[in-house]
Amino acid sequence: MYRDEFPILDTTVYGKPLIYFDNAATTQKPQAVIDALVRYYTTLNSNIHRGAHHLANVATEEYEQTREAVRQLINAEHRHEIVFTRGTTESINLVASSFCQAFLRQGDEVIVSGMEHHSNLVPWQMACERQGARLRVIPFSDDGVLDLEAYEGLFSARTRLVAVNHVSNTLGTVNPVARMARTAHSHNVPILIDGAQAISHMAVDVRALDCDFYCFSGHKMYGPMGVGVMYGKERWLDAMPPYQGGGEMIKEVTLEKTTYNELPFKFEAGTPAVGDVLGLHAAIDFMQRVGIDTIARHEAELTAYATEQMTALEGLRIYGTASQKTSVVSFLMGAAHPYDVGTLLDKMGIAVRTGHHCTQPIMDRYGIPGTVRASFALYNTKEEIDTFVAALRRIAPLLA
Ligand code: PLP
Repeated sequence: MYRDEFPILDTTVYGKPLIYFDNAATTQKPQAVIDALVRYYTTLNSNIHRGAHHLANVATEEYEQTREAVRQLINAEHRHEIVFTRGTTESINLVASSFCQAFLRQGDEVIVSGMEHHSNLVPWQMACERQGARLRVIPFSDDGVLDLEAYEGLFSARTRLVAVNHVSNTLGTVNPVARMARTAHSHNVPILIDGAQAISHMAVDVRALDCDFYCFSGHKMYGPMGVGVMYGKERWLDAMPPYQGGGEMIKEVTLEKTTYNELPFKFEAGTPAVGDVLGLHAAIDFMQRVGIDTIARHEAELTAYATEQMTALEGLRIYGTASQKTSVVSFLMGAAHPYDVGTLLDKMGIAVRTGHHCTQPIMDRYGIPGTVRASFALYNTKEEIDTFVAALRRIAPLLA
């Protein structure tokens, strides 16, 4: 589906047609996104916002049009609630640094889940260490489902923030973040959602979720690397100090003192990745042309198909079997090391990811070194899954 628009999918690996099942790490790019990057660098390249010349004005206009496209994509109330960053990691670090500087004090608490990507764990550990605060962790079941009763019980008078992923990159679990936001708000606590693994799989409406922050990366939604988004409710962004100092984030600078620019520029110090931002706009247009419902339906079909076939293989165990999950299948085969499985699959042209997937606490929870992770996107096919399952069947005796 829409496969022809992704030139890289014609690649061969070791003489075999590439089967790309590493989409949770990064998605491939449609021609429209590649064209947007080429167009920017061949016709528009210039630094934005401060130029008095044609190229700078057009680039600025297109950069700000992308902000509006992102606003519409996630249904934010205001365009200035959309801050461009380098990716989810930088978005979360921005909040962990800036929000915590303003609102986290000694003895306070931050709630995270036990299934966070390191990007939504380490910045909070660092902030807690800096401020003398502590982390509280929501446990999850063997199926990979968060324990919401335990979550409720973690709130105290010292809770200052909840930070949780919308979708687990390792287990595929779709977490009930709207409900979790309601719980947090009933305790007057804001919630940050790491949407890195949700944004390309489902409609995201930050007002319906009523989240205070929502973070994602362009490269996981068919867009370029180097650009991401931090959405924050205006009242929080207004109350937070800047993250980095430099050009663009200032109103007035003297040697003694600086006053800061208005939103969102207060949080966009320095030259942004203008070309990548324009590429992100092309990715949003592409996803909207295909339709998020079409994408979700196709991926659900692939996931159900793969799960059924894989479950039938002897000795294969799937980690993450929540009823609500995206197109991620993490697994182990017998006692085989995940790296060995990944290497053998690679020799057959099949790209999967192996290891802890930047979620070491999940591996500790299950007492395993890592998993093999196959993750599907809109351009993958059932035929590819057939080839993949046949490959698993072939390599099983080699690993026994
Ligand atoms: N959060 C989740 C759930 C992820 O899957 C990832 C990347 O795999 C990240 C955060 C970090 O994203 P990035 O590396 O694009 O900053």
